[in-house]
Amino acid sequence: MLEVLRQPLEDKTVTISRVTGSITYPAAFQFVGAMNPCPCGYFGDPFKPCTCSPGTVSRYQKRLSGPLLDRIDIFVDVPHIDYEKLADNRLGEKVGKGQGTGQAGAPNST
Ligand SMILES: [Zn+2]
Repeated sequence: MLEVLRQPLEDKTVTISRVTGSITYPAAFQFVGAMNPCPCGYFGDPFKPCTCSPGTVSRYQKRLSGPLLDRIDIFVDVPHIDYEKLADNRLGEKVGKGQGTGQAGAPNST
């Protein structure tokens, strides 16, 4: 299914063809996608071992074709984040301390 996006990504148009004719629409869009590194989702994870065979991982990652990957400008590898770190509220405290100090951009600052 993703492979049909190759042409719209390139041309910024999409053409729908039916028996009665075809019509071309504008299709300039920003493509954002995410995928697991392997079927179990833990390939490269420092905390939990991947249960997939190397062949399975390779086949899974090759599901996206080279031509489609060529049209994606930015790839970001997102590592596992420990829940405790993610739920840590220290950042919220920092933001709270910044309020009321008259910093530029703060809502309701005078
Ligand atoms: Zn795996």
